[in-house]
Amino acid sequence: MDFELNETQSSIRDLAERVCAPFDDTYWMERDLSGEFPHDFHQAVAASGLLGVAMPEEVGGSGLGITEAAILMRTIAQSGAGMSGASAVHMNIFGLQPVVVFGTAEQKARMLPQLVRGEEKACFAVTEPDAGLNTTEIKTRAERDGDHYVITGQKIWISTAQVADRALILARTTPLESVARKTQGLSLFYTPLDRARVEIRKIHKMGRHAVDSNMLFFDGMRVPVGDLIGKEGEGFRMILHGLNPERILIGAEAVGLGMAAIRRAAAYARERVVFGRPIGQNQGIAHPLARAHMNLEAAALMVMKAATLYDRGSECGAEANMAKFLAAEAAFTACETAIQTHGGMGYSAEYHVERYLRECFIPRIAPVSPQMIMNFISEKVLDLPRSY
Ligand SMILES: Cc1cc2nc3c(=O)[nH]c(=O)nc-3n(C[C@H](O)[C@H](O)[C@H](O)COP(=O)(O)OP(=O)(O)OC[C@H]3O[C@@H](n4cnc5c(N)ncnc54)[C@H](O)[C@@H]3O)c2cc1C
Repeated sequence: MDFELNETQSSIRDLAERVCAPFDDTYWMERDLSGEFPHDFHQAVAASGLLGVAMPEEVGGSGLGITEAAILMRTIAQSGAGMSGASAVHMNIFGLQPVVVFGTAEQKARMLPQLVRGEEKACFAVTEPDAGLNTTEIKTRAERDGDHYVITGQKIWISTAQVADRALILARTTPLESVARKTQGLSLFYTPLDRARVEIRKIHKMGRHAVDSNMLFFDGMRVPVGDLIGKEGEGFRMILHGLNPERILIGAEAVGLGMAAIRRAAAYARERVVFGRPIGQNQGIAHPLARAHMNLEAAALMVMKAATLYDRGSECGAEANMAKFLAAEAAFTACETAIQTHGGMGYSAEYHVERYLRECFIPRIAPVSPQMIMNFISEKVLDLPRSY
């Protein structure tokens, strides 16, 4: 057990802080109001080399692990960029792991270097309106037609599809009725988003307005066979491979967001004078902040434990789920406490904490809900009967 960051990890944190510094809270507030994608921030992260932190060296990355990626994502969120900054690069940091692990050498060389350089952006298209968290029930089909697959169906909540060049898409290649297990017959594609054959409709939502969320309507989008990742029918297994790192990164982002909220709240509580003294001198203000800080620190430890286990190749399903759950709940309490600390000004956009609160629902809901994590821990850790 070692709770210190090593030299490489400290340098990633320091570099990330320097990259984020010019993109202050005012920048993110303006992006949130305009809804404009933070292309310049994405480019700055790419130019620093950090986009490739967890990508293999042969495609231009640094070949580091999920631990280093988690440090990066926490630092981005903690800078005040919150989920807007984190989600602007998230998919490009670790989302293409199925291609890294299961893609051929030709696919990796063709698909990944431009992501690391920041010349292309990727999105991840799994969720569907009629399947929800029950992923094996997805209805989007990919039917073989010569040397292509033809994709038809709908996806929902797909982040960054407005600006993405390519999408990692999960679709059914063998009908549900024809497979022995529901997890079979799903395939994974990483392919250009052919806008002539997919309508991308923006969803008006609660927060993180700079990073779009979308409904996708595929109407016979043709995908070359060469863009199938791994074997046909094994897409679910490949997606599962990326679930734990995804939860670890979201957990790290939630910790960063919560820490940003507490930092702002503590600063306000030191300065705001009412009844002749700083409001932070009242324990009714100080103690909730202290408690929120402690909960975030504890969640951060679980994030790093899960990341360390993953990088060592050890089983980390329970830890990754617990990290995501604890971090998201701690971030929510931190953001809510930050608003209460600011009193009326907490409700004003000027102090940024209302934006943080709107954003902190994202790690609570996605990529898996708290209820499903509690289902997982009940069944897999506590050996209780499966409830669904
Ligand atoms: C901002 C945002 C960005 C997103 N980005 C992406 C993306 O880029 N790509 C992508 O593919 N998806 C994305 N998602 C989708 C996200 O992963 C899903 O919303 C999430 O997995 C929940 O699925 P659902 O919305 O269909 O909820 P549902 O499955 O409809 O569930 C609704 C509620 O019922 C509860 N519930 C359902 N079944 C059970 C049960 N058995 N026991 C207890 N409770 C249950 C759930 O916990 C949840 O609270 C994003 C979502 C958001 C909000």
